[in-house]
Amino acid sequence: MNKKLIVYSIFLFAILIGCVKENEIVTEQPLVELIAPAPCDILRFGEAFRFLVKVSDNTGLGNIKMDVHNNFGQHLHGDHEICNMDEPKDAVNPYFNEWILELPTQNQEYTLDTLLFIPDTTNFDTGDYHFHIYITDNEGYQTFTTVDVKIL
Ligand SMILES: [Zn+2]
Repeated sequence: MNKKLIVYSIFLFAILIGCVKENEIVTEQPLVELIAPAPCDILRFGEAFRFLVKVSDNTGLGNIKMDVHNNFGQHLHGDHEICNMDEPKDAVNPYFNEWILELPTQNQEYTLDTLLFIPDTTNFDTGDYHFHIYITDNEGYQTFTTVDVKIL
């Protein structure tokens, strides 16, 4: 083998490895289907809401980490459905909360159906909010989804 051919072979090999790795990440990442809250749902302070999500993974599940944060400035998280938003405004007393929900690590599929509560204690700002949801599998691969809601 001459030198040129060796260099060329190494180059091809590197490209091949690069492609395989990218595909691996896509197949290793968990899949998520958020059913509730649905995009543009109206939730209320002082009330519970249904959190219903279907998750699956090729090796097993890990946990769901979810937060709710205000979207008064109208930002985006990649590609998700956008709702009819109020006029942009400054946050005065925005609601923020975080939940970590463990999933059965031996399961490749799981449906989580639970009630979560939004407190109504200190006159939180009403308006546009995001639920931002990270799903991690039992190997540490992660994916996320976001849903636009109003909390009134
Ligand atoms: Zn957001």
